[in-house]
Amino acid sequence: MKILVTVNPRRCAASENCLAVAPSIFEVGSAGYSRVKREDLSEADLDLLRDAEQGCPNQAITVEVAEEDS
Ligand code: SF4
Repeated sequence: MKILVTVNPRRCAASENCLAVAPSIFEVGSAGYSRVKREDLSEADLDLLRDAEQGCPNQAITVEVAEEDS
């Protein structure tokens, strides 16, 4: 399983809701907007990611899950 998370800086309002929900995954980038700080996301992170995605007031977070090629 491969998990791809993106934060659209054009939508991000820097509310930091996602940092409150998942501080181990999101951080504030140099431009003041949220960004993902880890590349080793796994299935164990999905619940937090979905909570952050749904809790973003501006729909700036997109979580995509793809099965790995075998
Ligand atoms: S919750 Fe959404 S708007 Fe707020 S900092 Fe995170 S990505 Fe940006």
